[in-house]
Amino acid sequence: VKSESDIVIIGAGIWGLSTAYHLAREQTGRSIVVVERNAAVADETTRQAAGQIGQLRSDPLMVSAVGYTLDLLAGFKEATGHDPSLTRTGSLHLAQRDERMASFEVQLAHAGAFGIEAQIADGALIEKLAPAIRQQAIVGALYVPGDGYVDARACAQAYGRAAQDLGVEIILNAEVTDLEISNDSVSCVETSAGSIATQCVVAAAGPWAGRIAAMAGLTLPMQPIRLQQARTAPDPGMPAHHPVVRIPDQSCYLRPEEGGYLFGTFDADPMAIDPREKPANFATGDIKPEEKIIAEARQRLASVFPVLNQLDIAQFRQGMITCTPDAGYVVGPTPCIEGLWIATGCGGMGIAGSGSIGRWLSDGILKGGCTDDVSPFAPPRFKGRDPDLLREECRHVYSNYYALNSVTYSLG
Ligand SMILES: Cc1cc2nc3c(=O)[nH]c(=O)nc-3n(C[C@H](O)[C@H](O)[C@H](O)COP(=O)(O)OP(=O)(O)OC[C@H]3O[C@@H](n4cnc5c(N)ncnc54)[C@H](O)[C@@H]3O)c2cc1C
Repeated sequence: VKSESDIVIIGAGIWGLSTAYHLAREQTGRSIVVVERNAAVADETTRQAAGQIGQLRSDPLMVSAVGYTLDLLAGFKEATGHDPSLTRTGSLHLAQRDERMASFEVQLAHAGAFGIEAQIADGALIEKLAPAIRQQAIVGALYVPGDGYVDARACAQAYGRAAQDLGVEIILNAEVTDLEISNDSVSCVETSAGSIATQCVVAAAGPWAGRIAAMAGLTLPMQPIRLQQARTAPDPGMPAHHPVVRIPDQSCYLRPEEGGYLFGTFDADPMAIDPREKPANFATGDIKPEEKIIAEARQRLASVFPVLNQLDIAQFRQGMITCTPDAGYVVGPTPCIEGLWIATGCGGMGIAGSGSIGRWLSDGILKGGCTDDVSPFAPPRFKGRDPDLLREECRHVYSNYYALNSVTYSLG
């Protein structure tokens, strides 16, 4: 590897690559490298994602984070020549009880205030968008036509290629093994391929960010938790314009992929995983699917999508989302170590907010701040929290992801 760089980004997932792109786009002449332990970019959490980009959020900061990302991705190919694979067929939120529908109606007003187009979907619209829905199983639906999804790996690759076009170097097969800190400032990144002297490091290592932080003697308010999905065999009856569908009363979501249905579930008793307690080479591929959880989710979903009972499972796909007690990202500088920036705690919304993560970090590093107030995402929050308590708080956030009045999905 090169022996020095102005900025070193650890991790070539979607957050590291978006950050590299945004930093390089400013054309400040600073040298930027991304170091990735794998042989390919975006091969861990990012590769597993459903890539759904939903605009309706309870937190105005997240509304803005997703809004910027959608705008960026919509114009990305034209701006950079690289296709982030955005499909914008909207999203349907299904209500199976009256309280849920009431919350959608409140959200409709919020959407208007944020300038997000949304409408209550009638039976004819639902039939046109997603004919496999058994409408007797729902009491109503909210439709957000501007929502969409990406192939998350392709999207990350597009950020990465655009960054490389602007001079960023992506170094593969280089595992960060240590950080050197001198006088409370970052001075060097040690990797399996050599040392890189630097005064600015962005730790964008996803679920492994805790390991990187530990190299600097820090702990982060973040807990990786397993999230599971499965894709069915193709359904010949699925229209090409099928939207993302969220079925919060079943704690599930679903979207089209390769002609089948990719569905995921936030299970009630989720598995917390701590990569700091695993061997250094612990990877997403080591996380095995718990087929019982998927089978139960499919059973619940089949009450709304009976076709699921007739389709084989073509693929199980699982990974870790990094949860926090307040469902906020962990993004920003570390106050005790000059030059060390953190980006983790995606909360299952890391693709949707990927553009803003890169912009916030780039503005913070190059300009000393950004137009959004991202202080609610500051890495030192929950400092000193008992680790067992923090883990349970994160599991609670995860298992209540789609609950009425949840921080993650309180549509109303
Ligand atoms: C099943 C599932 C479904 C999801 N669905 C959605 C969705 O629909 N919408 C949405 O917005 N989000 C979704 N997410 C969340 C999304 O995948 C994440 O928010 C996003 O991928 C996080 O990207 P990242 O770059 O932070 O992490 P990662 O993609 O994990 O990247 C981190 C990188 O750091 C590297 N690394 C780690 N340690 C080191 C080291 N020591 N040295 C060098 N490199 C290192 C890793 O190899 C990896 O490449 C989903 C996640 C899962 C698991």
